[in-house]
Amino acid sequence: MSLIERDKQFVWHPFTQHQTAGAPLGIVRGEGVFLIDQAGKKYIDANSSWWVNTHGHGHPHLGKALQEQFEMLDHVIFAGVTHPKAVELSERLVGYLPNNFQKVFFSDNGSTAIEVALKMAFQFYFNKNEKRNRVLAMHGAYHGDTFGAMSVGQRDLFNKPFEPFFFDVDYLDFPTKDREKELLQHAEALLSSGQFAALIVEPIIQGAAGMQMYSVDFLDQLTKLAKRFHTLVIFDEVMTGFGRTGKMFAMDDCTEKPDIVALSKGLTAGILPMGVTVTSEALFQSFLSDQTARGFLHGHSYTGNPLACAIGCASLDLFDQPETWTAIAQISAWNQEFSNELNARKDVENVRQRGTILAFDVRLPEGNSYFSTLRDQAYAYFLEHGVLLRPLGNVIFINPPYCISADEYTKLRKVIVAFLDQLA
Ligand code: PMP
Repeated sequence: MSLIERDKQFVWHPFTQHQTAGAPLGIVRGEGVFLIDQAGKKYIDANSSWWVNTHGHGHPHLGKALQEQFEMLDHVIFAGVTHPKAVELSERLVGYLPNNFQKVFFSDNGSTAIEVALKMAFQFYFNKNEKRNRVLAMHGAYHGDTFGAMSVGQRDLFNKPFEPFFFDVDYLDFPTKDREKELLQHAEALLSSGQFAALIVEPIIQGAAGMQMYSVDFLDQLTKLAKRFHTLVIFDEVMTGFGRTGKMFAMDDCTEKPDIVALSKGLTAGILPMGVTVTSEALFQSFLSDQTARGFLHGHSYTGNPLACAIGCASLDLFDQPETWTAIAQISAWNQEFSNELNARKDVENVRQRGTILAFDVRLPEGNSYFSTLRDQAYAYFLEHGVLLRPLGNVIFINPPYCISADEYTKLRKVIVAFLDQLA
């Protein structure tokens, strides 16, 4: 039986309606910006394998770190035990984050990093005996697929069956430029009730909503408001972290910093699953008590996995090198040029770009839709032409690994333009 037949028999894939989905692509190798199938065909990994891969596939420095760590210590329980790579990664992450961040809590992925952030915020007020059980979130948000993360995300077809089980959340509309003032007033009216434990946002860019971008100034004002009413501010930097926006974190462009940040994806360079939730010393201190139950009694079997921590440290070694930042700036510049080309076209709109992320909407008579058939058409076209790019409905976007070369970027750009041209 072929790989695809065996897959069909035994595997249930994420975000897939198996009755209508085509056969999956069998990928057997990764090399730099490329993924390679069984027949040896190469595909540019235009979305960094679900936005996780930062430095390219099979990076030798990361491979060496993984091998060395495996030989030292593969895994160990993280309750009551520590190990050098978890400590080193925590120290170094805190070094990269703004000054108020001091304590790193490990978990397994982006969703769990969000669960932890929400549970910390709820328990912070529980420990203080203060009744604050509401959360303010943003329409269009995606924070993951676990129950807490779904509760604070956009309510739609993806999570409809579970909606009765979600906790109550208030939503702000997406802050388009013309509505900023009105939405800040709305936020103030809600937050001033004193009932909100947390505000949670994807800072500056909503990823799964279609790389929708909003202003830093709005975010600064919203964060400031939340702080004025003692609502903890959670930034979900699962997608935006680790260079995607052109800076290490999206919050680096903000004047007002959050109280809690969730990181994953690029944290481990797209190699092993891990998430972290980072908070201030003051928030950590508020869990200290002679009562065990006032501590944060949460954990996962693989919390602080040494292999993942070693990869995290090795990835930071690469971020410590100026070459990585030169590459990120180069992709930003290419994206800017490509944006100019796209802006001149009549068949696309809402071209947006920040750092290594470029997105645009293909103009459709029926308007924007995640379920647009254009998505399947585009996906198939790109695959045929050696590019793995998963559009979000009629939104086409690229966020490639930072090792992409000028030739590879040019090829990616040409394939996208050719796709648009043949639609006409
Ligand atoms: N938050 C954001 C902003 C995300 O983009 C994602 C994943 N796309 C998540 C959370 C969830 O992360 P994971 O898929 O690792 O659970």
